[in-house]
Amino acid sequence: MTSRERVLAVFNGKPYDKIPVINPTSLATVESMRHTKAFFPHAHTDSHAMAALAGAGRDLLGFDSVMPYFSIHLEAAALGCEVDWGKLDRMPQILKAPLLEPDDFVMPVNFFDRKPIKALLQAIKALRKKYGSEVAIIGKVVGPWTLAFHLHGTANLILETNMEPYKVHQILGMLMQTSIEFAHAQFEAGADIITWADHATADLISAKMYEEFLLPVHQQCNRALQKAGPVIFHTCGLVTDRLELFSQAGFEAFHLESRNDVKAAICIADGRMLMTGNINNPRILLNGTAADVYKAVNRAVEGGIQLLSPECALPCWVPNRNLLEIVHAARTQQNK
Ligand SMILES: [Zn+2]
Repeated sequence: MTSRERVLAVFNGKPYDKIPVINPTSLATVESMRHTKAFFPHAHTDSHAMAALAGAGRDLLGFDSVMPYFSIHLEAAALGCEVDWGKLDRMPQILKAPLLEPDDFVMPVNFFDRKPIKALLQAIKALRKKYGSEVAIIGKVVGPWTLAFHLHGTANLILETNMEPYKVHQILGMLMQTSIEFAHAQFEAGADIITWADHATADLISAKMYEEFLLPVHQQCNRALQKAGPVIFHTCGLVTDRLELFSQAGFEAFHLESRNDVKAAICIADGRMLMTGNINNPRILLNGTAADVYKAVNRAVEGGIQLLSPECALPCWVPNRNLLEIVHAARTQQNK
């Protein structure tokens, strides 16, 4: 089986030879940057550097997927946020939100020609050309909740869920079009799967608020993308109290942080979402030994994880040998 066949087999409920190792979020390390000569911050917005650095996930590390969107800031930058693109080992951040009001939320007609957006689409096309049907290509969009933080301001949005809920509904309703259309564009450019980064984390939104504000929006988004391809929902943190609601949203998979118990998560999802992730970043991948990685992979597989992956965007100083060990451990699993 090719890597791509292996990954898609899991999504399609078909038999597969080995448990796939994927990366729904950034796999960029300083080591990979040095190998490919594609460095942060340049590799966040330059299509050649994006494709080169994403390719390291395959060429150097042997992962079954490649993913060229390393931050969560491309849409924000294209829609008027001032972005500090960070440095070699620091991820970008928003310097200034345009604080758009609902009436201002019109997706620009030239959205797909705006530099960071165009760069990502070109990188996906280049990866598809390079890997053909060998490797699964994962794209990524920022969902309307996180996009609303970026464009309207986090404090504003949280306050308005209480004070002006109609306004929050309006904002999310408008912004979801951007996420849906950008996802479609990435599928068309050659992505097999899309990661949907929408930080419905416990520190920013309660399960009840998720149900009220975001669940209907996510359901609508997933209906719009149903025929286009599978979507992996990424939210950091503890999610046990809201995983039942996430499972009703229509996502094909969930990207799970290691703080959550895999078995419990799989039990709650009850076949409605696949589980990926769960390999701890700071403790295991950044600071652990090969033996620690091997154990973490075993634990995840025993817990029932269906697609192995690091739990979230990697810290850039993760040594590549630990990432190679995920793949090594995964291949061993299947030969048992
Ligand atoms: Zn995360």
